[in-house]
Amino acid sequence: MDMRKFMNDKVIVITGASSGIGEAMAREYAAMGAKVVLGARREEELERVASEIETCGGKVAYIACDVTKEKDCQALIDKAVESYGRIDVMICNAGLSMRALFDDCDLEVLHRLMDVNFWGTVNCTKYALPWLQRSRGSLVGISSVAGIHGLPGRTGYSASKYAMTGFLDTIRIENLKKGVHVMTACPGFTASNVRFAALTADGTQQGETPRNEARMMTPEQVAHIVARGIRRRKRLCLMEWEGRATHHLKKFFPALVDRLFYMVMANEPDSPLKR
Ligand code: NDP
Repeated sequence: MDMRKFMNDKVIVITGASSGIGEAMAREYAAMGAKVVLGARREEELERVASEIETCGGKVAYIACDVTKEKDCQALIDKAVESYGRIDVMICNAGLSMRALFDDCDLEVLHRLMDVNFWGTVNCTKYALPWLQRSRGSLVGISSVAGIHGLPGRTGYSASKYAMTGFLDTIRIENLKKGVHVMTACPGFTASNVRFAALTADGTQQGETPRNEARMMTPEQVAHIVARGIRRRKRLCLMEWEGRATHHLKKFFPALVDRLFYMVMANEPDSPLKR
């Protein structure tokens, strides 16, 4: 089926839509005729994205929402239903990263990562699921290659993304007879604000990126691949060779993948692995 035809009139809720991958998904899916409902904490950024979508003739609603707060997630789902009467796709995309060795890290950093990445997904799923069961729709979690194999210097990030996978896999099985499609999407490095906002060992924002953002996938590429995964009702959506190689290689050569991951992350300027 043609992607525009598939997207047309679908009601799609997206968390973390104020920048990066979430913003790109909102723009692309609205441009294909979907009605998008956006959530994130920074209302002024949501307003910017929404007004640009409206200017292009798209249909959009938004509400300020901190996914770590259950009531905010309930309000996001209420907003979608009040605005458009149904939900076809829930994309749990809001996310936070980190960069520090576990040895040095305040445990508060790991709690914070679990709150946003894991609990944010759980909170939104809790309120969206009844609507997805009605529409036989799709529940999507934006995980990461770090959710397929442990990424050194990102313990809290990898753990929270693995937790998302366990949660989503189980929701899939519980809903086997209810027609809900559940997909875990695993982008590799993608140019966005995620490394700037990432937490350091003491919980302060990193404020800079240790990697060359120009050599990464773009959020628009990720948005496109995720849309294709939803249309095909895939369970796992891998994006590029790093994700595919990790997924396949680790089945047979997990120790080799350990060494490759160590090497890649130790090569970052100022890598915590070098200390
Ligand atoms: P960005 O930092 O650009 O976007 C993150 C989004 O999450 C922002 O819109 C931010 O909005 C929102 N967010 C953060 N905390 C909260 C919160 N408590 N409640 C609601 N919204 C929140 O990064 P990306 O676009 O790259 O990240 C999107 C997803 O993709 C994340 O889950 C990330 O882990 C995943 N990913 C990214 C990769 C990359 O290299 N970029 C690679 C693999 C996966 P606000 O601050 O307004 O709340």
